[in-house]
Amino acid sequence: MSTALQPTFVLGDRFARELPELALPWQAEAAPEPRLLVLNAPLAAELGLDPASLRSDDGLGFLTGTRVPTDANPVAQAYAGHQFGGYSPRLGDGRALLLGEVTGADGRLRDIHLKGSGRTPFARGGDGLAAVGPMLREYIVSEAMHALGIPTTRSLAVVATGRPVRRETMLPGAVLTRVADSHLRVGSVEYARATGDSGLLRRLADHAIARHYPDAAADVQPYLALFQRVVAAQAALVAQWMLVGFVHGVMNTDNMTISGETIDYGPCAFLDAFDPATVYSSIDEGGRYAYGNQPMIAEWNLARLAEAMLPLLSDDEERAVSLATDALGTFRMRYTAAWSAGMNAKLGLCAPVDEQVASPLITELLALLRRNSVDHTSFFRHLGLSVRGVDEPVRSLFLDAPAFDGWLERWRALAPNADAMDRVNPIYIPRNHLVEEALTAGTHGDLGPLERLLDAVTRPCDERPGLERYALPAPGDFGAYRTFCGT
Ligand code: AMP
Ligand code: MG
Repeated sequence: MSTALQPTFVLGDRFARELPELALPWQAEAAPEPRLLVLNAPLAAELGLDPASLRSDDGLGFLTGTRVPTDANPVAQAYAGHQFGGYSPRLGDGRALLLGEVTGADGRLRDIHLKGSGRTPFARGGDGLAAVGPMLREYIVSEAMHALGIPTTRSLAVVATGRPVRRETMLPGAVLTRVADSHLRVGSVEYARATGDSGLLRRLADHAIARHYPDAAADVQPYLALFQRVVAAQAALVAQWMLVGFVHGVMNTDNMTISGETIDYGPCAFLDAFDPATVYSSIDEGGRYAYGNQPMIAEWNLARLAEAMLPLLSDDEERAVSLATDALGTFRMRYTAAWSAGMNAKLGLCAPVDEQVASPLITELLALLRRNSVDHTSFFRHLGLSVRGVDEPVRSLFLDAPAFDGWLERWRALAPNADAMDRVNPIYIPRNHLVEEALTAGTHGDLGPLERLLDAVTRPCDERPGLERYALPAPGDFGAYRTFCGT
């Protein structure tokens, strides 16, 4: 239960106050033997939290939600969601809590949220818990994404609880303390819409505008402007995922934010060999959330958001549908523009690019990468070397190197800028075999591999001696990678 913690900061409850219908007051389950596994000191400082006091007993109580400031009002958030295409009217935080909001040193309001903090009334059959491994995975991957400049929830800490969790085997349990601009999801809007309470839907939209898109408030049609902003944010976000080879793995509408932050790192992974059909998640049998499907799925999810928002767009349903359709119609153009600009940058094409030349070259490149099972991350990094006259590293990635030579010549004729490429093409990403290595060791109490991997991936473009193995593709015996959801 919560007892007094002498807070050096204020934990707000704006979400709970403004949207009580979506906020169920709840308490975290006790952690019998809390032990800090990893703390994000730079993020703590950004939030105005003192890293040293977060390491204290009271601090661990805060990070696990078991000792929160007396005036805090932790809640489980209600939301609905389309999961693998099917609608679930009541999902919500089954094993998570919103502790409250803090105003960071930069003046931004940020959610402090827990994952793995015990069963809530939304838990259905679940145990409300999380195992150390998956929470460390979320920590590593979200911090890597942030370092890559991709909007994402952040990870403040992982604390082992001392409580065992039953999965296929018994595993040590943990709580992840997560930070986000907010935890509003497409599924939050679907939930509000399904209540039939138009006042609630409007209040939710006003809350989203105030927190994420304040300029939309001044628009002649603020709610249409809100929808347009979300379309734009998601188009830009998914373009960035695609450019870096990120596979989210479970793009249900409850895992897509209104803020445009990447959220819920469950069965996520990064591409090794480039192939649009890549699926890592063990539960995604039909490949719905394959790498190459992600832009289309984002658009599909935004169509569900549009449907949920229709009553806000116009009293006349036909007019509302037409406004929503037009706004959603901009997704493809926005996505393509963001992706093309990003791909030009990855290829070092900085000067105004002649799209008539660049576009077919890029199309041909993607076909070559796929046919030759080329490691996505190594390719772009090694390609930079070839501008400096060192072709072998990039050529050696191709099964059929001579088939690549013609492309290489035509690309080089466009005078790419190698330094610019090195600034945008990461050398260190959370490669699947390295993540597995860090999680396995971390689960057994050895945090060394996790710390070294974090050091590499949080400065992803900055090549450093001694980190050579973090740049290498998976060894041949790593096999087909599978990730597991709901863990
Ligand atoms: P996900 O798609 O993994 O983000 O989760 C889908 C839903 O399942 C959400 O409502 C979660 O809160 C819930 N959930 C996932 N794992 C658990 C668990 N171990 N206990 C209770 N609820 C869970
Ligand atoms: Mg989720």
